Amino acid sequence: MALRFYNTLSGRVEEFVPLEPGQVGMYTCGPTVYDYAHIGNYRTFVFQDVLRRFLKYRGYRVRQVMNLTDVDDKIIREARAAGLSIRDYAARFIRAFEVDRELLSLETPEVVVRATDHIPDMVQLIQTLVEKGYAYRSEGSIYFRVEAFKDYGKLSGMKLAGNRPGARVDSDEYEKDDVRDFALWKAAKEGEEAWETPLGRGRPGWHIECSVMAMKYLGPTFDIHSGGSDLIFPHHENEIAQSEAATGKPFVRYWLHAEHLMVNGEKMSKSKGNFYTLRDLIGRGHKPTPIRYLLASVHFRKPLNFTFEALRQAEQSVERLRNFRYRLEHEAFAAGSNAALEARAAAAAQAFEAALDDNLNTAEALAAIFELVREGNTAMDGGDFREAQRASFQDVLRRWDRIFAVLEDRDYERLRRFGLLREAKPDAAAAGRAPAAFDGDHDAGAALAEVLTDAEIEQRIAERNAARQRRDFARADQIRQELLRAGVILEDTKAGTRWKRK
Ligand code: AMP
Ligand code: ZN
Repeated sequence: MALRFYNTLSGRVEEFVPLEPGQVGMYTCGPTVYDYAHIGNYRTFVFQDVLRRFLKYRGYRVRQVMNLTDVDDKIIREARAAGLSIRDYAARFIRAFEVDRELLSLETPEVVVRATDHIPDMVQLIQTLVEKGYAYRSEGSIYFRVEAFKDYGKLSGMKLAGNRPGARVDSDEYEKDDVRDFALWKAAKEGEEAWETPLGRGRPGWHIECSVMAMKYLGPTFDIHSGGSDLIFPHHENEIAQSEAATGKPFVRYWLHAEHLMVNGEKMSKSKGNFYTLRDLIGRGHKPTPIRYLLASVHFRKPLNFTFEALRQAEQSVERLRNFRYRLEHEAFAAGSNAALEARAAAAAQAFEAALDDNLNTAEALAAIFELVREGNTAMDGGDFREAQRASFQDVLRRWDRIFAVLEDRDYERLRRFGLLREAKPDAAAAGRAPAAFDGDHDAGAALAEVLTDAEIEQRIAERNAARQRRDFARADQIRQELLRAGVILEDTKAGTRWKRK
């Protein structure tokens, strides 16, 4: 069945047909780089990553463009306080964002661009809007005249004056003709870093950035635009108005919005202070991959409540998948083939693909794979698993993981590479876990505790060898499992037991 998405613009689930066969142009609103992103932001970024991975899985060539909002009120204020230029101040958080993205196995979009590298393009689009009568000047700033764009409100249904409570709005708009009008260009305030342009001295508004960068790299009309649902109004509504007013063409064909990551019934956000950054969680002993898993585990159109209990369950789920993969790789099975299991593998692959085709239903895609894991484990335990099914089960897991990207344990390696790993004892890691959903700590210098030292691993291997010598295979296996959970893989060779970290 064809791929289908819920399109915020039509309010319906629609079949996905790209503008050009086999190719998808996709724009995603990136972070405002004035601080570390929180895991609420990453819910949306993980959703967008699952989306691009599944599009590729379905054979599309994807061109994804992501902007970095590196100029806004907060950045200007914080940069000044830190005695840095806007560019230098933002660069630090752009780097942190890149590190986080790699930790969460987010693929790099084909085009990642900074707003401040596109000031002349923005000036040009604003000039076009002024010439066409969609924009007016007031006290050195330039505003979009909402009244002039008859389709205003077609995305959000917000035609009337005023802003939806909780929606993200600009805080510094000066003299406007109509409260709905929004700033395209903001006159520089005294002492503020600004750009000298044909429009005067100032800086761009937030919305115009995205219109400009999207159309520059994807053309006036493209396939998919996405972000969190807080961006529907006014940000995306305004993007449509600016872009379509300037080009006279439809801007975006499918609008996809992710629901929020919540904490105790409220949206996780910087302003409420109820947030965790990825580094906060790493400092508490959590690895990034289960966080990715947790964020992807709920359908993107449903709110997801963050709790440490849910994260613990995600950790167990990832471990269960990896243990099954380990069994598939290392256990000996009787020769031959089990036709019923072979059919189950094929059915599971079909089920996860069908779930993702159906408006990216990740929850069902997970259920399909866990059903297969359960059946596979039962067959192995009961001696019914056959050698011929090893490859077909491995193939299904590999295909599934092209989208979910949680089977490879690269956490330690990455954390070590980014200096986010510290030596510590197991109880120190456990003590770092918070019982409640949020207790207000932020620790930017956080590092994940490495649970076992080399000496401790060697000692456990010696224990296991002793258990094997007295033919206590249950104990030996238990130790192997414990080491596996700690990220250590054992390999028994003629020369003895070798080990490596995953
Ligand atoms: P920002 O850095 O505020 O521009 O946000 C970056 C992305 O994160 C946008 O797509 C937002 O819609 C999204 N976002 C912000 N808060 C949350 C949240 N609590 N849950 C999911 N997405 C969010
Ligand atoms: Zn945007």
